[in-house]
Amino acid sequence: MPMPPVKRVLLKLSGEVLMGDQSFGLDPKVVGELAREVKAAKDSGLQICLVIGGGNIFRGMAGAAAGMDRAQADYMGMLATVMNALAMQNALEQIGVHTRVQSAIQMDQVCEPVIRRRAERHLEKGRVVIFAAGVGSPYFTTDSGAALRAAEMKCDALLKGTSVDGIYDSDPKKNPKAKRFETVTYDRVLADNLKVMDASAVALCRDNAIPIVVFSIRENGNLARVLAGKGVQTIVQGEA
Ligand code: UDP
Repeated sequence: MPMPPVKRVLLKLSGEVLMGDQSFGLDPKVVGELAREVKAAKDSGLQICLVIGGGNIFRGMAGAAAGMDRAQADYMGMLATVMNALAMQNALEQIGVHTRVQSAIQMDQVCEPVIRRRAERHLEKGRVVIFAAGVGSPYFTTDSGAALRAAEMKCDALLKGTSVDGIYDSDPKKNPKAKRFETVTYDRVLADNLKVMDASAVALCRDNAIPIVVFSIRENGNLARVLAGKGVQTIVQGEA
């Protein structure tokens, strides 16, 4: 199944991707490599929105499991995503890519608030827009934030860069016979609870007909390959 034609995409990276081989935090070398992937995609003429998770620093669920108030912990998780966004902004600007960070939690000294029209203008001017702090509310994740921004920015696809090269019918780490889907419908992902993104994020993409492209961001050049239709990925979409 080829990639649908795209002009504007939203790339979602989980915070864990930024860790590299570490067990916590971010590895500036890895962030630099990811920035080069983004630059290559941008240089191919695409408009790029970015959403980065915060799981490498803090997840609300983990805080809640340890006895914290869930909402309080979730706000900490959202702040973690802002740190990752700033790290990625730094790495992109070091290689000459102009960026703006827009946060769903206002912090004027650090970045812009989310303003859709202003984000539009940034994209038109060739800037990468990094959306931070998810949807700005607890009990959500950055997957939902990514789906929301992809919808409001009218992105042609939501690219989910992870550590696996697509969606499998069972866990490929446990089952050597697990099969990767070339394409799968939103409804199957939801009904079979396939681990791609949160159900709310998948449903939002379904309702707005935004294809979700799941691919591995761990190999060099893979984002560009996927965008050129030469990569390995799974595409989540509606019935053909
Ligand atoms: N979070 C939130 N609302 C949002 C987005 C994120 O409360 O709209 C919090 C939540 O606690 C989450 C954490 O921020 O666990 C980090 O985001 P996420 O788990 O999505 O990061 P990822 O798994 O992509 O690294």
